[in-house]
Amino acid sequence: MTEATGIVGEFLALKAETDADLLAMQCGDFYEFFDDDAETVAEELDLKVSQKSSHGSSYPMAGVPVDDLTPYLKALVERGYRVAVADQHETADGHAREITRVVTPGTLVDTGRENAQYLAAVVRDSEGRSPSGNRTQSGDGDAYGLAFADITTGQFQVTSLDGPDAAADLVTELYRFDPVEILPGPDVRTDDDLLEGVRERTDATMTLHATNAFAPGRARHTVREQFGTETVESVGIADDDAAVRAAGAVLSYVEETGQGALASITRLRAYGATDHVALDATTQRNLELTETMQGDRDGSLFSTIDHTVTSAGGRLLREWLSRPRRVRGELTRRQSAVAALAEAAMAREDLRETLDGAYDLERLASMAATGSADAGDLLRIADTLALLPAVDDLVESTDRLAESPLADIVAGADREAAADLAADLDAAIVDDPPDTVTQGGLFRRGYDDELDEVIAAHEEAEEWIETLDEREKRRHGLTHLQVDRNKTDGYYIQVGKSEADDVPDEYEGIKTLKNSERFTIPELEEKEREILRLEERRGEMEYDRFRDLRERVGERADLLQTVGRALAELDALASLATHAVRNDWARPELHDGQALSVRQGRHPVVEQTTEFVPNDLHMDEDRRFLIVTGPNMSGKSTYMRQAALITLLAQVGSFVPAESARVGLVDGIYTRVGALDELAQGRSTFMVEMQELSNILHSASEESLVILDEVGRGTATYDGISIAWAATEYLVNQVRAKTLFATHYHELTALGDELPTVENVHVAVAGEPDSPAGSGTSSHAADESDGDVTFLRTVREGPTDRSYGIHVADLAGVPEPVVDRSRNVLERLREDEAIEVRGGEQESGETTQVVFDLDSGQFERSGGGGEERVATDGSPDRDPERGDIDPDAEAVVEELRDLDVNETPPVELMATVQAWQERLEGHDS
Ligand code: ADP
Repeated sequence: MTEATGIVGEFLALKAETDADLLAMQCGDFYEFFDDDAETVAEELDLKVSQKSSHGSSYPMAGVPVDDLTPYLKALVERGYRVAVADQHETADGHAREITRVVTPGTLVDTGRENAQYLAAVVRDSEGRSPSGNRTQSGDGDAYGLAFADITTGQFQVTSLDGPDAAADLVTELYRFDPVEILPGPDVRTDDDLLEGVRERTDATMTLHATNAFAPGRARHTVREQFGTETVESVGIADDDAAVRAAGAVLSYVEETGQGALASITRLRAYGATDHVALDATTQRNLELTETMQGDRDGSLFSTIDHTVTSAGGRLLREWLSRPRRVRGELTRRQSAVAALAEAAMAREDLRETLDGAYDLERLASMAATGSADAGDLLRIADTLALLPAVDDLVESTDRLAESPLADIVAGADREAAADLAADLDAAIVDDPPDTVTQGGLFRRGYDDELDEVIAAHEEAEEWIETLDEREKRRHGLTHLQVDRNKTDGYYIQVGKSEADDVPDEYEGIKTLKNSERFTIPELEEKEREILRLEERRGEMEYDRFRDLRERVGERADLLQTVGRALAELDALASLATHAVRNDWARPELHDGQALSVRQGRHPVVEQTTEFVPNDLHMDEDRRFLIVTGPNMSGKSTYMRQAALITLLAQVGSFVPAESARVGLVDGIYTRVGALDELAQGRSTFMVEMQELSNILHSASEESLVILDEVGRGTATYDGISIAWAATEYLVNQVRAKTLFATHYHELTALGDELPTVENVHVAVAGEPDSPAGSGTSSHAADESDGDVTFLRTVREGPTDRSYGIHVADLAGVPEPVVDRSRNVLERLREDEAIEVRGGEQESGETTQVVFDLDSGQFERSGGGGEERVATDGSPDRDPERGDIDPDAEAVVEELRDLDVNETPPVELMATVQAWQERLEGHDS
């Protein structure tokens, strides 16, 4: 066998051992990729491919220098590849290679990502009910277990979901965490629908991890090994098979990739999905939490309110925004901290200035634990740890802060331990250490006696050399003499040409240059050997001690994470306070009821760029559903999003853009926005609109907030009204969620008049009697009065008016009762029959009937015998005097209705129309 066969053969054999996508195999000073891997890597990273011939065949080969592997690995992994690395090591008979680690998107330690880097595992547990699950309706369906690890910060979180919507909740949860890599459990892998849902919502790499890692017994063992049995009990997941299986699978995968990252995972956090506000993917996008609908960061809620000074603080604030909470105690605690920081302006600025010097301790802890931190990183850890006492003093010395929850946050981190470790590191590492950790120069004198001896000898030898030139000059009376060192000649004495002949005999020439000669002497040669020996020894000893030190720091990952988290929290809270003060935001009152009351509220993002006209909002149990009408561009969407964002900010613990606000905590915020805007940009179809509606009708509860910005607009008018009508009734009667519904179907305002918990509001336009005085021509203000909206008469007969829309709604999974009801409403609209408003029972117990009159564009209400005419806009009937329709005209209308346009020849049509006109004219005259 030739050597070439050996290498390529060995590569292919190793490749067969791993299920990684690519293999980098060390061959001396290079890591090589062969065969298909070489092609892939060359393509992705723009490397040159050469050919390696072996046994008459030729294989593509691409390589990177050993020292440069990391950036290449990172680039490959960021493109979603999983890369195995085989290292070469010396053996008695030559050398051997084996796979030492696999680098994957979820286990990349040296990440450049600003956001969290989550690795997730998902299992389905068919028997399961989960104690920490969120739904009360137990029983049917499966439980899902979810675990998320961010090895760059050591964050580890698990939960389980059950109930009828578990699969949808699972997708939402995955979207929320946005993992870079997902390990689907054995029973998830075969669920194509679920996988497709996940793929649509995340860009994660899917990795098939060993099936037995998901087995309950094995997983439980893994989790206990990592965190201890008591922890598993105390966080309450001991009986939660789904959560434990997911957790175990993640841990075993991290271990298997062989990078030592397991050490950074020190804490297990089990969270119940009920602790958080459900925010599905669509809603996060619609509310533009972290990026705008156009995909820009600027103009998002996060970029608007982010004043953090550290990357860890920014990461935490972003996490808070995407995961608002429902736990009042925790929210009140954040609010109190924000309030204290808002009031203590000087201390706040001092705090922010201090935090500005903090590095990302959570990330540094992982780097120490995985052995990728260098000496500079350890100093950065020391510098950051040293901030804790400073921050603590700052908080303690300001009464307003000392009495706030900030004191507890700081106290939660062990000040003494942090100061000790910082002092130890400072005493060990020199001020400006080199980037390499293998060549010495890292440690201060006094750190280690044995090392000190070597350092002393080394420095002494260097000193001898440094002063050699002076000695030689004096001794031999030479002036143009210097001592230097380079790679080829080692140490040498260089003498200018003019004096080259005056050197003593012991000078042995080694090189002649244009203007000088280089010499050496026996003492110099001996010193050189000594220095080289000492350099090597010092490098080894320092590296050895550095690794010990780094390992000891890695063992304190828990401390580093606690301190890092505390500093991040202070930064995020100070950021909220800063924004509140600068923009005059108010602390909202939180309560567990349904009421949402906002006085003089503003939209947090729009107020930054526009002279915003504040407006009020009031909703409660008796005023649960608001139908918002108003002309295009009058501010309907803004008003509704503002309600959602104020609720969301309140549930982050932030102050809100309003004069005052009372916010009932919600369990979820659901939105769907106008089909037309989106349709125009090719991003939505009517099907998508209906799917979103379907999701809302299924998922929202009495404690949710629902924002509907147009429903049914993507289809024909009659269909659209029918669907919107049925959806409204369903939301009001079944779901009972707090809902804001903007619609251009003014017909629906009839529901506001009939259903007790539904009210009409409209965006007042300048000039209206009830618009705020003196607010100019561009007044936007929502008003609670029912009057003064213009009825647009958009109802039209016509060939496009088919029931296609309802059919799509059905396909999209809109609940059966809503679909049936839409058909029923549609039929009645077409037949011009009475539609009873469901849930709108009068005191007499009779159902209200509303008849939509095509001719007048009005609804007529009948209930309990007495008839009354209602204009859909709620304004007084425009023609109260109107008598019965003339029987002749009625006959014409009847015929018009019955005429089948498609079956009638055009000429005949013209004749018929003419005849009608004549009959009507004859009647008029
Ligand atoms: P609609 O949904 O009624 O079509 P939008 O909510 O999209 O209207 O608002 C139209 C424009 O008016 C947007 O540019 C928005 O920024 C601005 N706007 C909305 N509400 C206000 C307000 N209260 N004060 C000032 N500008 C507003």
